[in-house]
Amino acid sequence: MLDLHTLYFSSSISRIAILSIFGVLLFSKPRATYLRYWIVALLSSGVGSMLSISQAELSALPPLILMLFMASLVFSWIGLRAFYGRSVNFLTLLFLIVLPSALCILAKQIGLPTRAIIPLMHLSAAFLAALVVYEIINFPDRRLYSQYIVGLAFAGYVLILVLSASLIIVAGVGVNAHTAAAMSLAFDQVGSVLVYFGYIAMIGERSSLDLQHQAETDSLTGLGNRRAGHRILSRLHTRASTGGVKCYSVLIADVDHFKRINDALGHEAGDTVLTSIAGRLASTVRKHDSAIRWGGEEFLIVLPEAVGDEAEGLAERLRKRVAEEPFSIGDQQLVVTLSIGIAPYRTGDVTFESTLQRADHALYRSKQGGRNRSTYSPIEPV
Ligand code: GH3
Ligand code: MG
Ligand code: MG
Repeated sequence: MLDLHTLYFSSSISRIAILSIFGVLLFSKPRATYLRYWIVALLSSGVGSMLSISQAELSALPPLILMLFMASLVFSWIGLRAFYGRSVNFLTLLFLIVLPSALCILAKQIGLPTRAIIPLMHLSAAFLAALVVYEIINFPDRRLYSQYIVGLAFAGYVLILVLSASLIIVAGVGVNAHTAAAMSLAFDQVGSVLVYFGYIAMIGERSSLDLQHQAETDSLTGLGNRRAGHRILSRLHTRASTGGVKCYSVLIADVDHFKRINDALGHEAGDTVLTSIAGRLASTVRKHDSAIRWGGEEFLIVLPEAVGDEAEGLAERLRKRVAEEPFSIGDQQLVVTLSIGIAPYRTGDVTFESTLQRADHALYRSKQGGRNRSTYSPIEPV
């Protein structure tokens, strides 16, 4: 039989070790509120475990210790909400921490048997652990895999706590209270590692995704930059070559006589025009298309599953969206136009570079043809 004192002791020291890692993390991310909540969760359960070392039986846990364990679960949950950028209600927080202990005190006062009080404690804790699972299942940050490890660990806590409560309800207190506590604490040895290292993995995973997003975003227009364009095109070209998508097209749109705008109104006005064009392009493309700032005053539009009339139609929509509504710069209304080159994917092309090259040639023809137009590059055999 597992000894409760040893289990509480091992829970405490593992939390001190994890706490030191979270302390260092807080130094590098001092403004991360979620880290503070998770540290409070660690401290609460650590102190709770330490104070429990001297307790012979779980049934004897005083309300203060119970409150510490509940606080740990509640702070884990609100830490997660803060991590996801959701609001945290402090009244709910206080209510969830205090209510289970208050209920237990009340149950003792009205003379409810221990057989009823201990399951009540376990079920209250199970409810709080279930809140975390609910948060992760219902409103996840879909980019993060590690959040599901945390979710799984909390689901394990729910299961073990409900099992413990059932054991006592069905078979009575006595040795079962000890077995139930030992079961929960034994699971906690693994559960706490999964939860807290899961949190660290979530922080790391999100930081690297945010960094990738920054590295692939054009700071002026907010569109994807050339690096993002390369990634999107190379993935799409591979999928088209292997039958994952039937086809795709690329559009290269170049602002006509943009240098004149800079020369007449200044570089800052030029920047404003570029940002406005980017906004119009992004709001006109279809859901799965990508609008990229390819460089300077050139934009790249990637159209999966569209060639021929469909691609030409979209190019015309984009061109008109820019040309037909003047841009307000100070008190001036500025008409700006685009020239567009369109090229479809050609079976047998080894890389997307040749699609781009054909779009570039088509763009050149649009410029030669008098600007403010789009030209489609027909597919010729390789
Ligand atoms: P064309 O119709 O032949 O495309 O003529 P154009 O004037 O648009 O082409 P050109 O290549 O001669 O000039 C492009 C100008 O775009 C030159 C450059 O200073 C300007 N430019 C490039 N990037 C930016 C930017 O980020 N902001 C601003 N304001 N101007 C930029
Ligand atoms: Mg250009
Ligand atoms: Mg230009």
